[in-house]
Amino acid sequence: MSATTPIRDQDTRAPAPAMKWWGWGEQDVEFTHEDKPGLAPFIREELGIDITRAGGALPAFGDLSIPEPQLPDALRAALETVADVSTDAHDRVVHGRGKSLRDLVRQRHGELGRLPDAVVRPADEAGVEAVLRAVLDADAVLIPFGGGTSISGSLEPPSGEQRTVISLDLSRLAKVLDVDPVARLARVQAGVLGPDLERQLAERGWTLGHFPDSFTHSTLGGWIATRSSGMQSDRYGDIAELTRAVRVATPSGMLATRPVPATSTGPSVREMVLGSEGRLGVITEATVHVRRLPAERVILGYLFPTWEASLAAMRDIAASEAGPSVTRVSDSYETAFSFATRKHQTVLDRVKSRALRTYLSRRKGFDVGAMCLSFIGYEGTKSHVAAQRKLTGAIVSRHGGVCIGASPGELYDQKKFDTPYIRDFLLDRGTLADVSETAAPWSALQPLYDAVRGAAREAFAALRVQGYVMCHLSHSYHAGACLYFTFAFEPRAGGDPLDQYALVKSAIQQAFVDNGATLSHHHAVGTEHAPWLEADISERGVALLSGMFQTVDPGRNLNPGKIV
Ligand SMILES: Cc1cc2nc3c(=O)[nH]c(=O)nc-3n(C[C@H](O)[C@H](O)[C@H](O)COP(=O)(O)OP(=O)(O)OC[C@H]3O[C@@H](n4cnc5c(N)ncnc54)[C@H](O)[C@@H]3O)c2cc1C
Repeated sequence: MSATTPIRDQDTRAPAPAMKWWGWGEQDVEFTHEDKPGLAPFIREELGIDITRAGGALPAFGDLSIPEPQLPDALRAALETVADVSTDAHDRVVHGRGKSLRDLVRQRHGELGRLPDAVVRPADEAGVEAVLRAVLDADAVLIPFGGGTSISGSLEPPSGEQRTVISLDLSRLAKVLDVDPVARLARVQAGVLGPDLERQLAERGWTLGHFPDSFTHSTLGGWIATRSSGMQSDRYGDIAELTRAVRVATPSGMLATRPVPATSTGPSVREMVLGSEGRLGVITEATVHVRRLPAERVILGYLFPTWEASLAAMRDIAASEAGPSVTRVSDSYETAFSFATRKHQTVLDRVKSRALRTYLSRRKGFDVGAMCLSFIGYEGTKSHVAAQRKLTGAIVSRHGGVCIGASPGELYDQKKFDTPYIRDFLLDRGTLADVSETAAPWSALQPLYDAVRGAAREAFAALRVQGYVMCHLSHSYHAGACLYFTFAFEPRAGGDPLDQYALVKSAIQQAFVDNGATLSHHHAVGTEHAPWLEADISERGVALLSGMFQTVDPGRNLNPGKIV
């Protein structure tokens, strides 16, 4: 890279503290309903459950049945010369799976699956190559591990795997290697976690601008290997656009692409690595777009009278020159849930809220039960932000929407990374909550939305459970957008909770592919979404992927069983 700014070599970081083995995030952080007076009544009404009751007890780690690791002496010796090697039981359990609902339910029941036999942490790219060579020589299995936030079963070893399984943890490859301020590109090691990456870039005045909800615990390599998307993708792009070049340790040597802005070199090898979920090799480094930290950043809240009006407004905003960084709108069901999670309000807040409702229903003709809450974000210079707001405001008004100011948006911005903890809180109380997300052309979004809601309701009815499904639109593009569904229900006593969950999840996924949408916009394929791959990319598409994996990894040593 030319005109680079070298970045101070940092000490090799100690591995980040592991997430809970049974749930999301840090050990001492958990969700509470107690400061949100509307939540318990809302959930009692919508799901028929009482969240004020105490949560059930989790198994103690010491009571888990953890098989002894099968690590042959020769492989252990080869690995120990090139990396830190751990066979610690907690380490193996944390590295055995990601954080999908199925993962968490099974962990909580003490069903740990096929654990890796060792967790290996090389210090640099040469170490990754050496670990890969040692694993191949021993005909073992290697599963790259970033932050462990996979939500699609991308990390779990196949249940019947007889060979030794090595989890390759990339946490020691966590440096921003350099920033080219002219090209606005940064070379970054793949194991860096979101906050550490943004801190290192911000010290130089730069940002990647990639903020998935799992940002705090996921890594650059994981984002690339799953084709991740962050909340500000409307401005910065998804990780697929942000990633200009990759370096990958493959079974037959290093694969490296050039950080050129565009190229005509046949089918894109860079694109083949994007979303490869560890099946082609280990991503050690990427060159990514960086931008100057914006002078101004604001997220405004808006209310729309209906979901149909919201979709039309988002489509018009995407087609306009406004270019906001975030466009997100919740349907009326998610809006009701958001209002129910509001914290205790002051008297003044309550007065303002009543006045707003009166204004919306009497003056604007809103049916308050149908209204949809939206957040739209703007970034850039003061004048650019002002121009974006003006253009967007005009489109919002044209569709009957109303701006409700910056405070709801600020609250959302501050709290967004806390949301994942809710799922554990509900699981503690026997309620299953999960997500399914997709993308489709603008013209398909309304029928898709109706079909998914219908499919979920039918699944709840078949199970004879009271279920809730809600949705938001986020990540807008020229041709369409992502719809993100969240569903929850208390499974029937006596039945297997995961069978009941599979019925609802499958109904939703099937509705996606039956209605012109993709199996996932940004959660990858893994094992959980693999049954819908053929419907999505055709039989020939699956054959093409299988051929590629077979050629690169004939021994099926790299994360076997994922994607196809
Ligand atoms: C609560 C929650 C919220 C989420 N929100 C979002 C969101 O907003 N946007 C989004 O895009 N996703 C989201 N996800 C999904 C998940 O965070 C992403 O898939 C993320 O990109 C995974 O990154 P990771 O570092 O945790 O990878 P891991 O989970 O460790 O690994 C995922 C896959 O990538 C492979 N892999 C990891 N690192 C490498 C590497 N260096 N080389 C080769 N292969 C590698 C693994 O083998 C595995 O197949 C969410 C998940 C949860 C649980």
